Amino acid sequence: MKLAELTWQDVAELSRDIVVLIPTGAVEQHGPHLPLATDTLLATAAAEDIEAQLPDLTLLTPTLWLGASLHHMPFSGTLSHSFTGYDEALKRVILSLAEHRFIKFMTINGHGGNCDLNRVAMRDLKSQNPNLQLAAANYFDFPEASTWKDTLKGPTKNIRHACEAEASLMLHKFPHLVRKDRIRDDGLEPTPAIPGLITQFDEITEQGSLGHATYASAETGAALWQAIVAGGVQAVQGFADGYHFLGAQQ
Ligand SMILES: [Zn+2]
Repeated sequence: MKLAELTWQDVAELSRDIVVLIPTGAVEQHGPHLPLATDTLLATAAAEDIEAQLPDLTLLTPTLWLGASLHHMPFSGTLSHSFTGYDEALKRVILSLAEHRFIKFMTINGHGGNCDLNRVAMRDLKSQNPNLQLAAANYFDFPEASTWKDTLKGPTKNIRHACEAEASLMLHKFPHLVRKDRIRDDGLEPTPAIPGLITQFDEITEQGSLGHATYASAETGAALWQAIVAGGVQAVQGFADGYHFLGAQQ
């Protein structure tokens, strides 16, 4: 169900076992070939497709579109919360619905810069509200790791930024928004990789993207999308189902 399409009386009657899905995105630069809303569009679409398969088990909120994008600010058009502003915005959505006695919350995040903050916000909420069940999920975590490796054609076998994976997903879901004539590879990284390195995007890219977007195709995007939605449906069902004893067969 979609929260924004219900009345307050509809919401009052819902089961409190329902899983609240909160898409979190961003409006930030995605290189010369993808639109600023890429992360918001993909997170929203993933959450909508999951909700469509589990309408009675899920309550989908509108997307938090203003993300934590301070590391992209050197590029025009990028909008960003402060870290504390983002933390507060996400917590207020959860705490508002918790006040209405909902207890299960899962983010469907589409933006790398929100990952740490979603986890920190939820860890903080959990410590103060142990009855809440919280999951800081990212749509790009839903496929098996082997799916990325087996599906992506270029040398980078995971999702980066305006990369083969993201450009393929956009070619599949929102092809009219992709500037196909501007697709390019970009990005610098140290060899060997430095664990935990913190960067601003203008330090590590020429035009804002990170990865091998020239390998992108709508076919790759369709295969990834199927894995994202299938994995997401499974994750939400497992979350709704609750804990099982370690290793127990279901
Ligand atoms: Zn992105």
